[in-house]
Amino acid sequence: MSTATRSSQETISLFDKYVIPNYRRYPVCLSRGEGSYVWDAEGNRFLDLFPGWGCNILGYSPPRVVEAVQEQAARLIHVPNTWFIEQQGEFAEAVCSRSFGKAFFCNSGAEAIEGAIKLARLHTPESKYKIITFQNGFHGRTFAAVTATAQPKYHQGLGPLMAGFQYAPHNDLDAVRELIDDETCGILIEPVQGEGGVNIPAPGFLEGLRELADEHGLVLIFDEVQTGMGRLGTWFGHQHFGVQPDIFTLAKGVAGGVACGGFVCKDEIAPSLRPGMHASTFGGNPLAMAAGVATVQTIEEDNLLEHSKQMSQRFADHFRPLIDELPIVREVRTIGMMIGIDLTVPATPLVQRCMEKGLLINATHDTVVRLLPALNVTADQVDEGAELLINELRVLAEEG
Ligand code: PLP
Repeated sequence: MSTATRSSQETISLFDKYVIPNYRRYPVCLSRGEGSYVWDAEGNRFLDLFPGWGCNILGYSPPRVVEAVQEQAARLIHVPNTWFIEQQGEFAEAVCSRSFGKAFFCNSGAEAIEGAIKLARLHTPESKYKIITFQNGFHGRTFAAVTATAQPKYHQGLGPLMAGFQYAPHNDLDAVRELIDDETCGILIEPVQGEGGVNIPAPGFLEGLRELADEHGLVLIFDEVQTGMGRLGTWFGHQHFGVQPDIFTLAKGVAGGVACGGFVCKDEIAPSLRPGMHASTFGGNPLAMAAGVATVQTIEEDNLLEHSKQMSQRFADHFRPLIDELPIVREVRTIGMMIGIDLTVPATPLVQRCMEKGLLINATHDTVVRLLPALNVTADQVDEGAELLINELRVLAEEG
C-alpha cells in the first residue's frame, strides 16, 4: 500500500528542477515504513537491512517514538536553550545514567564532532591543539569533521583544511606514540570504523589509546555516532570494549530517526565548555529529546540489547560459512548490529541487484557490503535478508 500523493517519477522531476544534485540517489521515493520494511511511492515493499544509514535504529516509525513526537509536537515543538527544557533533562539523564558524566545536545554527527573537538581544545592548555585521528575513519562533512576524516577522497578541492589534525594507521599504537608531542591535545577514534568498512579494533588497541592518553594528558574522544545507542549490543560502543573515553559523541539512531546529535563528557571536563563558548539553536529541543527518551524506553522495555546480540549471531551463522564457500568473500566482520562482508570485488553492483529483489543494503569502502540492521529486526527478517543476499553473492561469484 502506498501513502504517497505523487509517483516516484513526479518527485524526481521536482528534484531535477529545484534540488542541488549533490547526492547520488536511487531513482526511488520511499514513502512509508514499518519496522524493517519500507514501501516506495508505487507500493513496492523492501526489506531494509540498512535503514536510514543507521539512523532508524528501531526501524521505520517505531510506535513509542511516533507517539512521543506526536504528543510533544502538540504541546511544545521548540524552545531555545535560554530556558531549562524538561525533556532535555530527561534525555540527558537517560543517556548519562547509562554511561557517565554530562551531556550536550545538537542536531547531527558532524556537529557533535565539532563540539567534542572544541571541548578537547578548551580543556587542555592553549598550546595544545593537535588531534590524532585514524586512516579510514569517518567523522562527517563540516570542516573540522572532514579534516578529522583521514580519507583523501573527502578532502579533494576543499583545501586549505583545518590546522592541527594528524593521521595514524588504524590499530598501530607505535604510530600514535610517535605522533604525540607537546602540542597534542587529543585522540579521536570510532570504536568500530563504520564507513571505513566495519573495521573492528585489534584486541588491546583501544586500551592502549586510553593508556597513551592518560600518560600524556590527552583527551580521548570516541566517535559513537554509529556505535552508540545499542548498536554493538551495549548501550554505547565503549562499554563493549570496556574502555571509557573522556568524551563520546552521538547522533544517527540516538532519537529513533529524529534528527539529534550530542556528546557526553566526564564530569570534570564539563566546566571547560563555559557559557558563551558553544551553542546550537535547535540542540536539545523538546521534540528530539522526547524522541530520544522514547528510543531509550523502547530499547529497554523490549530488551533489544539482548535481542540484537542474538540477531547478530544469527547473521554471523548465515554469513561466516561464505568465507569457505565463495572465493569472492574475503572476510566477514560482525559486531552487534554492524555487519561487513569484505569482498575481493567491488560491492556496489550487489546493492542494485539486491534492490531489484526487494532488499536494501549498503556498499562502503569499495569492496565491503555493509548492514546496519534495526535492533528489533526479527529472526525471520534476518533469514529472509541473509538468504537473498547470499543468493546474489553466489550469482556474482559465478559470473567471476
Ligand atoms: N561520525 C560517524 C562515525 C559517522 O558514521 C557519521 C555519518 O555517517 C558522522 C560522524 C557524521 O554524521 P552526520 O552525517 O549526522 O553529520
